[in-house]
Amino acid sequence: MAEKIWLASPHMSDEGYEMEYVQEAFYTNWIAPLGPNVTGFENELAAKVGSKAAFATTTGTAAIHLALRSACVKEGDIVLCQSLTFSATANPIIYEKAVPVFIDSDYATWNIDPVMLEQALIEYGDRVKAVVVVHLYGLSADMDKIVELCRKYNVVLIEDAAEALGTYYKGKHTGTFGEFGVFSFNGNKIITTSGGGMLVSDNEEKITKTRFWATQARDHARHYQHSELGFNYRMSNVVAGIGRGQLKVLEQRIAKKKYIFEFYKRELGQLEGIDFMPINSWNMPNYWLSVIQLNGKVRPLDVMETLEANNIESRPVWKPMHLQPFFAEFDHIGGDVSEKLFKNGVCLPSDTKITDNGLERICKIIKGLYR
Ligand SMILES: *Cc1c(COP(=O)(O)O)cnc(C)c1O
Repeated sequence: MAEKIWLASPHMSDEGYEMEYVQEAFYTNWIAPLGPNVTGFENELAAKVGSKAAFATTTGTAAIHLALRSACVKEGDIVLCQSLTFSATANPIIYEKAVPVFIDSDYATWNIDPVMLEQALIEYGDRVKAVVVVHLYGLSADMDKIVELCRKYNVVLIEDAAEALGTYYKGKHTGTFGEFGVFSFNGNKIITTSGGGMLVSDNEEKITKTRFWATQARDHARHYQHSELGFNYRMSNVVAGIGRGQLKVLEQRIAKKKYIFEFYKRELGQLEGIDFMPINSWNMPNYWLSVIQLNGKVRPLDVMETLEANNIESRPVWKPMHLQPFFAEFDHIGGDVSEKLFKNGVCLPSDTKITDNGLERICKIIKGLYR
């Protein structure tokens, strides 16, 4: 059997940066909780993306949950949420007993369609408390329009940039346009800490408050006193050490991801009915995954099954939330864009450890399907 090729797997630095930080945590017995790596990682990430404050969490999902609480989203409130995404974007809306309304995507960005977003803002009026936009696969949404709409209708903008660390929109880092931005360091993301997340904001007070909630909401008292509901969402000092090391190789990872995308485009771009994810002039993506649309005779399942038979991992585009059995009862605004992106989409292997040989193997297999 040929060597396994992964979709996207953890890739620690050749330089061993992560180990240095982790070892330091061990030598100083600063294993948990908090500690200098957590503070260091928060500061370094905030500096990288250009936000005033950052808060390291156990997961990206936890960071989304905290953002919704901070936005004062309460039971029965409506949160407008991009439909084409991973379920972790939408689940925290349910944790707060709020009501998601799903919004279709725009072919130009694959992310929330600003026209549909405005339609929903008008239709649901004052019940809308927040908008959750996603920068899917490291492609930025059309932020100028979305920011303007959120201002006009006075709703809190939360950016799920879990897949978009290193992605810029018109020179500004994704996750810094809204009141809150969220990043993830889950195992398959562009950099990973094994598991973890980060909440960023320019509002330092709000970050301080989420830090309080996420540390079991312990009041300032010697005894254990609680006046608010708490959560246990803080990142550990060991995990943060991995993150600090990984952050040092983010640019290397983006360069390789871009190389992979361009390799596929050069090799497969001429095939009948293949379209690549949209790279807009204002978008500087991190190319987290190379994603294609198949509109010809070869179908996504043909590609995924043939790759699988050759020990190569690929996967479908996210299934939109409004098509998920769990979210079926909630409204959806828009047409069938996200549904088509799902039905015709394939995420090609985008592992940064992939070799040219591996890429050639994949392209040869896909080309073979067109003969
Ligand atoms: C990975 C991901 C999340 C969740 O992040 P976790 O750290 O796994 O909790 C949220 N949204 C999107 C779009 C993601 O891809």
